[in-house]
This record gives sequence, C-alpha cells and structure tokens, in this order.
Amino acid sequence: MHLDLHSHSGYAGGVGKTSFEDVERNMPYKGINVVGTGDCLFPSWKDELRRVLREEGHGIFKFNEDSSISYVLQTEIIITAEVGGGRRKGVHTLILFPSFESIDRVSEKIGGWGMKNTVGRPFLKCETPIDVGEKLIELKSIDEYIEIIPAHVLTPEGVFGSKAPVDHLSGFYGEFASDIRIIETGLSADPLILSLIPEFDDISFISNSDAHSPALDRMGREFTTIESKRDYASIIDSLRKNDIVGTAEFNPVEGRYFLTGHRAGRAGHDDSFCAFSPDHTPQGGICPICGKRLTIGVYERALELSRIQGAERHIGEMGYEVPFVHMVPLVEIISYSLGISNTSSKKVIDRYFRITSRINECDLWFEKPESIEKRLEGIVEYSILKNIMAVKDGNFCFNPAGYDGEYGNLVIGKSIDYDNINMVCLSEKGQDRGRPKGHYDASE
Ligand SMILES: [Zn+2]
Ligand SMILES: [Zn+2]
Repeated sequence: MHLDLHSHSGYAGGVGKTSFEDVERNMPYKGINVVGTGDCLFPSWKDELRRVLREEGHGIFKFNEDSSISYVLQTEIIITAEVGGGRRKGVHTLILFPSFESIDRVSEKIGGWGMKNTVGRPFLKCETPIDVGEKLIELKSIDEYIEIIPAHVLTPEGVFGSKAPVDHLSGFYGEFASDIRIIETGLSADPLILSLIPEFDDISFISNSDAHSPALDRMGREFTTIESKRDYASIIDSLRKNDIVGTAEFNPVEGRYFLTGHRAGRAGHDDSFCAFSPDHTPQGGICPICGKRLTIGVYERALELSRIQGAERHIGEMGYEVPFVHMVPLVEIISYSLGISNTSSKKVIDRYFRITSRINECDLWFEKPESIEKRLEGIVEYSILKNIMAVKDGNFCFNPAGYDGEYGNLVIGKSIDYDNINMVCLSEKGQDRGRPKGHYDASE
C-alpha cells in the first residue's frame, strides 16, 4: 500500500487547487492508495471534508465508493517559539488525526491558545520550546492516535533547518522530543542524508509529497510503502514501529535546498548566482556576489548536525534499515526526452497515459528493469524508455543541483560529483570575476 500523507487543499496558497475529483482521477495512474486530506483544521475545508467523505474503516475515508483511493485526516501547522538569543523559529509540523471528533477537540484546544488560522495552514505561537513541548503533549493526550510528525526536517522551515538553527529536537520541541516516533524526510533530504544525524537513529522516516496540487508531478512525487490493513491505527502502528517496506524519494539533489548558495534575482544579484558543496562554502558562509550570508543547504546542515551531535559521520557510511528509491516524476522524464519544457503538454500527457496503462508510476520504480523494458517496448518513443531505464539505474544528475529555493536541473545520462561543486556564475551585467569555477557548464 502506497501512502502520501501530506498535502494541502486550495486554501493553503501555492500553485493550483486540490479538488477530490482531480485526486481521484490522477492517483490511480500514480498508484497511490492513501492520501492525506490537507488542512483539516481549516474550518471551511473541514466542513467540506465532513460533507463529502464517508468513513470506510476506522479513521479511513472514501470520497468515491468504487475508487481505490482512501483518505486520512491531515494538516500541517506552523509552530513558532523563541529558541534563544531573541530568535524566533517557525517549524512546520504534520498532524494526522484518527477521527473528526479528535479534530474538533484539537481545534477547540488550540483555538483557546490563540491559534491563527486564516490561510489553511494554522499558526500556533508558543513562548519557548518548553511551552511547545507542553502544548503538544496536551494535544496528544486527547487521543493517543493523534500523530505529530516534524515535517520536511531539513528545509529552512523544518526543525533542523538553517533558519534560527537548533541542534537537538528538544531545542524546539522541548519535552515532546522524546515522544517523536516518525519524521518526514521532505523533498530536500533522503534516508541517506538523514542517517548522518545521530538523533534520528531510532526514528522512522516517512516520505510524502507535501503537494499543493494533484498534478501528476506533484502529488505522489514522494511516498511511503507499507503492508498493513487499511485502517488508521494499523497504518500508524506500522509507521511508528518502522515496519516500512520502502520509501520513494524525490532526489534531494533536485530539491530546492540541497546545496548552499544564493539564487539569481536576489538583491545585489541580477542574474548572477552561486552554489557550493559543503567543503567549498566560502569562509564564514558569506556570498561572494552580494556579501550577505548564504542560504545553507541541506547537505551542509546535516554534516554540521552530525558533528554537533558528536558523530562526524560521512555520507554513505551509515547503513539504513529501510530501502528507498530515488525517482524523478515520470512527466519530467517524458518531457525531457521529447524536448518539451511544459510537463502538462498534450504530447507529454499522452505518453504518460500510455505508460501508466501498462504499469502505475509507483510500481515503475520498484519493478525489475527487464520487466519494465518488456512491458513498455513499442508503447512510447525509444528515447523515453531509454531515459526511464537510465533513471532507474541511477544514471542521471542535476546540474546545477537545487539551492536557495531553486529546483535542480535534470540531466539524464550524466553524473556529477556533488561533493565538488564550487560554482560562481556571473551575468554579463555583473562584475567580471573570471569564468565560473567548478563543474557547471552552461552548454549542458
Ligand atoms: Zn511545510
Ligand atoms: Zn548573495
């Protein structure tokens, strides 16, 4: 069973608007079976969920009786607290609920704490980490199956993100830190990177899309696979016990915060940008273009946390219990192969449906290469098939990799050493600082 337990309704902003009709139409092609509803604490969305969903099994809901898709009640909230030195940190946190009744009781409680809820994703303002811990422990006491999960832990808005950094989970979550059983990897990290951090050694990693739209390259772009009965408590128990078959990960290098850097378009940057591997970040983390502090990437931050928590681990040195695959959204591979930049163009979608009528997208990444080749031969252009096989084989890279809010740029059939990126690219308007250094080649 493939789970994607973190999404957003149309109320949370971002691109697109999620409707159940769209989710029901697209997810069978993706192969996703259980989807988070998003924003279930937002009053008008909660009312709509109550109106259109019917309980199928305990804590699991259906929109359409005949469909293969089930729903779990879910929201993300932003918790803020002072973390020392006058710095206030905001941390995205995922919450799963076993019932509408538990949502009502949580709403009442956090309403009393002055929660702001105007954009779908509510804000809960706390004084200190101690306060955060007490409040979350109180929420959990409402129902032991309310599951509170630090979301995309290494992005700037995650608990271990580079904004107002804290070095241990308790530095933000207070006493609740020891109750955390599950964390979400987020698009910018995978189990390999997270296993650098000693504090995560006994915690389950799950992957979700965090999609703001049900588009084919958004919802289901990360997922978690388990074998369990289709009811809420069984799903939560499997996740808590790390009884997970595997996770499919958006490649962290494609994620928007992998490397340290500054994107083009920032103040003092015009078209110039820079990106660095951890060992190449300039002294003091200062941008060579604008002179301000660089946005520290996920990779650098994870290595730093490893050191701070006393381990000095290196990538690849730690084993991880649960297997995972790196995937690239299939529509991106198709549009790349056909040389079309729009991933929702008619031709791209046509090829997408030809492929997913043979095998859904989740299974595509777990199935053996020989079987995929046999099933897809002659169905689509050879270039698409060749590129799917290359991605399955790990023969692709992102150049440049993601940094400072920019997604990485997919290149299939080439590899790159992500430990050795030292890239300063200046626009023609910028000062002449010589040729860009490092691996970046604009002609690629
Ligand atoms: Zn978030
Ligand atoms: Zn800069």
